Amino acid sequence: MESIIAKKWAFQNNQDLTNASGITIKGVLTKLMDNINKDDPRPTIPLGRGDPSVFPSFRTATVAEDAVVNALRSANYNCYSPTGGVLPARRAIANYLNHHLPYELSPDDVYLTVGCKQAIQVILTVLARPGANILLPRPCYPFYEAFAEHIHLEFRHFDLLPEKNWEVDLDALEALADENTLAMVIINPGNPCGNVFTYQHLQKIAETARKLGIIVISDEVYGYLTLGTTPYVQMGMFGSVVPVFTLGSMSKRWIVPGWRVGWLVACDPSGILKKLEICDCIKSYLNIFPNPATFMQGAVPQILENTKEDFFSKIIGILREAVDICYDKIKEMPWLVCPKKPEGSMFVMVKLNLSLLEDIKDDMEFSLKLAKEESVIVLPGSTLGMKNWLRITFAVELSTLEDGLRRIKAFCQRHAKMN
Ligand SMILES: *Cc1c(COP(=O)(O)O)cnc(C)c1O
Repeated sequence: MESIIAKKWAFQNNQDLTNASGITIKGVLTKLMDNINKDDPRPTIPLGRGDPSVFPSFRTATVAEDAVVNALRSANYNCYSPTGGVLPARRAIANYLNHHLPYELSPDDVYLTVGCKQAIQVILTVLARPGANILLPRPCYPFYEAFAEHIHLEFRHFDLLPEKNWEVDLDALEALADENTLAMVIINPGNPCGNVFTYQHLQKIAETARKLGIIVISDEVYGYLTLGTTPYVQMGMFGSVVPVFTLGSMSKRWIVPGWRVGWLVACDPSGILKKLEICDCIKSYLNIFPNPATFMQGAVPQILENTKEDFFSKIIGILREAVDICYDKIKEMPWLVCPKKPEGSMFVMVKLNLSLLEDIKDDMEFSLKLAKEESVIVLPGSTLGMKNWLRITFAVELSTLEDGLRRIKAFCQRHAKMN
């Protein structure tokens, strides 16, 4: 019996899934965690992924927790969710975005999703058709590539330019697009680069997309998490220049990625998307996939309306301090080069100067040895299409961050080339 099953399984192993998990952040981090020396008495320092919810300083707002409890206790949300989400939640998200838009979104423009990840799944699936392609930034949040590959949607990369504050290489973008290009993706504030696009740059992106006849998918999961002087501007500002799908979630701003509440919003005051029936496709998709738990949806209006500014400013304050520490310590290390101090999100990209390092051939080897010798996890850039770069998160407890950077420095010193 066992051998029959084993034989069938080996034969039918879904290669798409195996391939996808190899390039996702989770897949690589699992590999790095497996490389940790179990005998190291020091705690493992997780600078590989952006989930600070485990640290006491990053506990979510009490009003947000209360909102969930109240929604649950009300017994109003024990039912199945309507497709696209319960009306009060859709309305609250429309209002949340309307705050800074020159036109008004309606609840019908909003779809609730299981985190921002499902919003990505929905929009990519709706776009996928034989021959079509989409344009993704390099570096990108690798779930885009993993999922596009999974549904056989062709993607092409345009570069973000480190020497230009990680702005989009708009000339390259134009050269990449053809008549089968349907959409481009931007992530702003940026993961993994920590960049924040200016109003002027977003406007140029909108105008370029309009010229190319493509829509813009704007991943704003780090919306309002800005640490420098460049303010966060919604891509939806340019919805009348070009149709925009805005993606967001509670995961990062409220530091509750486990709550799995996200949204997909059509910012399209000209009604172009409606005519194309894209929104009907979204509903059809959501009809066959799970929704966020209904009581979590029920909590959305209270969370969005009642979270006080002092919660957000406390978190921004910690992240600002963290990014200062991170940037200053990295500047002291000649082995790592940081082209731009992050202005948003929770990450910094640094380039390895391999010519100064002995017995390390690339970013993967650096990360594997760092995990083994120092119990520090960082994400190899090759996961994000940036070979010999690293992505480091600074969204951890400050003492943990300092300890982690100290260990990275000790590691580099030990592996430094003698000259
Ligand atoms: C974390 C993240 C997501 C996923 O968000 P969830 O709400 O946890 O699903 C999507 N896009 C980017 C750029 C992210 O960093």
